[in-house]
Amino acid sequence: MNPLPSTLLAELASIVGPDWVISDADRLLVYESDAQTAHNVAPQAVVLPIDTDEASRVAQILHRHRVPLVPRGSGTGLSGGALATEGGVVVGTSRMNRILEVDPENRRAVVQSGVLNTDLSHAAAPFGLHYAPDPSSQTACTIGGNVAENSGGPHCLKYGVTTRYITGLRVVLVSGETVWLGGQGREAPTFDLVGLFVGSEGCFGLATEVEVALVPVPEATRTLLAIFETLEDAGRAVTAIVSAGLLPAALEIVDQNTIKAVEASIFAAGYPTDAGAALVVEFDGVEAGLALEAEEAERFCRAAGAREVRRAESSEERVALWKGRKKAFGTMGRLAPDLLVQDATVPRTRLPEVLSRIAEIAERYQLQVANVFHAGDGNLHPNIVFDRRDAEETRKVEAASKEIMGVCVDAGGTITGEHGVGADKQKYMPLVFSPHELEVLRRVKGVFDPEGRCNPGKVVPPPDQEEGAGS
Ligand SMILES: Cc1cc2nc3c(=O)[nH]c(=O)nc-3n(C[C@H](O)[C@H](O)[C@H](O)COP(=O)(O)OP(=O)(O)OC[C@H]3O[C@@H](n4cnc5c(N)ncnc54)[C@H](O)[C@@H]3O)c2cc1C
Repeated sequence: MNPLPSTLLAELASIVGPDWVISDADRLLVYESDAQTAHNVAPQAVVLPIDTDEASRVAQILHRHRVPLVPRGSGTGLSGGALATEGGVVVGTSRMNRILEVDPENRRAVVQSGVLNTDLSHAAAPFGLHYAPDPSSQTACTIGGNVAENSGGPHCLKYGVTTRYITGLRVVLVSGETVWLGGQGREAPTFDLVGLFVGSEGCFGLATEVEVALVPVPEATRTLLAIFETLEDAGRAVTAIVSAGLLPAALEIVDQNTIKAVEASIFAAGYPTDAGAALVVEFDGVEAGLALEAEEAERFCRAAGAREVRRAESSEERVALWKGRKKAFGTMGRLAPDLLVQDATVPRTRLPEVLSRIAEIAERYQLQVANVFHAGDGNLHPNIVFDRRDAEETRKVEAASKEIMGVCVDAGGTITGEHGVGADKQKYMPLVFSPHELEVLRRVKGVFDPEGRCNPGKVVPPPDQEEGAGS
């Protein structure tokens, strides 16, 4: 890693102000990882512009000095995507947090990319609208981060993930040039560049403004919590509900280890700790018909072996039923000091079998796995809790992780459902892409970033690391 040119920090400070350039080691520690704390690399500096103009001028300076630019939102990512793994300067969006326009007639809004996901929905609420994609981290993560990861969330089973809601993007390219992709119907006659940018994990440029589609807040909601003796039974209930043609807004599972962690924490939600799994089922939409759908889902849960099904009768009860799921990640620290959050997707029908294989792998390596996942999408999060001070245990975590990925891919799934590839899963890319396909991905990145300085070291492995990658 080359040292930063001596004049660089002063140049950056002249644009954003000295308070918004961070270069002392203590403060850089905050930026050395994201929520996947298994990876730690402090950047050489962090700069926090306030708008597109400042971001563009910052990018121009970095470009002139040939220094990598690493976009960062709130750092809640779970794949090491916002880390300066190859050196360089993090450009954070935390000051770009203004909602620029809410246009209820056209059900759209324009926000700066550092706006938090829930802040956008709060701003739209007075108009009976909301922003549908709802990552469980939604009170902390940014819209720009959601765009970069094409984030999902509990309600994305029915509503679809981020890409469906992004209609325009203002992007600062690594050269410092600013471009609008799409926006107000402009995209229709051209290539879908917005679609291309969404999910690009910070490798194509820094999104500074985002135009989004808003949707009406649903008229009514029905929420159930089904308690099962085994995780496999809960998986079977999910398959039955979806195969029957029901479309819940959410189908979310937590397993026994997760329930124990939640119940031992300040977020205790009253889930029974002897249960093998709990399944949250939620329907929303127009009032008529919702009760019937909920009854049908309850029947499927009971047929799959649910020993108890709780129904929320009020919004307070709904919040209580969700609590064990929503607070799950935050309570994992009850189980061990470290957590490797995994993310993979399998066809829904393969869920019971894949869950059994994961349990078998955990037992063989004598590791504790806590499953929390968007079951309706087949999006698994087998989270391995461990203590990284134990080198042998850490080695086992890596080996088990790799096996779990292999099981998911063999079942017809893929290596990430929503957390992205980042630095964490780059090594697994050859499990799902051929060398030719990887080369196509590299060429696409080259269009936006010909010199390879926009969030380098992420997503696509370099050609010399393709062979045996993932092995
Ligand atoms: C408890 C918890 C629950 C979570 N639940 C979910 C969930 O349900 N669904 C889900 O999909 N994810 C979930 N996540 C993961 C994470 O919150 C999302 O990936 C989120 O979109 C990241 O947003 P961020 O602002 O924190 O981005 P960061 O972590 O800062 O960055 C993530 C990536 O986006 C890039 N990036 C950030 N901002 C920009 C920008 N403006 N322009 C270009 N690139 C940018 C970065 O370079 C990096 O590659 C969860 C995380 C936690 C900790």
